[in-house]
Amino acid sequence: MARFIDPVCKRCRREKVKLYLKGSRCYTPKCPIDREAPPPGMHGLRRSKVSEYGIRLREKQKLKFFYGVLERQFRRYFELAGRSPANTGEVMLTLLERRLDNVVHRLGFAPSRPAARSLVAHGHVLVNGRKCDIPSVLLRAGDSIKVKTRERSLKLARTNLQSTPPQVPDFLMITNNDEPEGKMTRLPTRQDVDPRISDIREQLIIEIATR
Ligand code: SF4
Repeated sequence: MARFIDPVCKRCRREKVKLYLKGSRCYTPKCPIDREAPPPGMHGLRRSKVSEYGIRLREKQKLKFFYGVLERQFRRYFELAGRSPANTGEVMLTLLERRLDNVVHRLGFAPSRPAARSLVAHGHVLVNGRKCDIPSVLLRAGDSIKVKTRERSLKLARTNLQSTPPQVPDFLMITNNDEPEGKMTRLPTRQDVDPRISDIREQLIIEIATR
């Protein structure tokens, strides 16, 4: 399974925005973005004019880093969204919101998307009662998401639910707090996109993807 291996805070510094990849640490003064750390690299502080292409590329990278997807998967979402009669950019964002790792994080079972990805990949999560260890699975309306009733699995999810009560979005619902369980009540829309990335300009991303 391909994955990012560079230091995660470097990605935020490159994009000059918080991408919330480290859970609770992102809300402390230790966050390099809050400390106004420069972009990575020896020429990080050098000011240079960003081209039109550069603006679009940075927007795309921001989205990919935020949801933890690599280029190949991103292309897949773009192609899937292109087949829909609705706005391609908006459909692509909603597809990303339907990923299992994203849903596990937004239900509050994991402090960040990378942590949710690891929770899923290590087999701690059940979808409709069956084990699912693929973080990129796209959920449908009505699907239930449950943490395994194994002491270790429950401890991981409960600890996070107790430490940071989640702001559960409208398309999700927590059905059980003791044995963490939730449900996708309907498919997400553009308004349901994580508020921390909702100012993303999807039109620019589509423009670079169709080049
Ligand atoms: Fe690091 Fe989180 Fe701050 Fe990003 S938001 S720089 S991941 S601490």
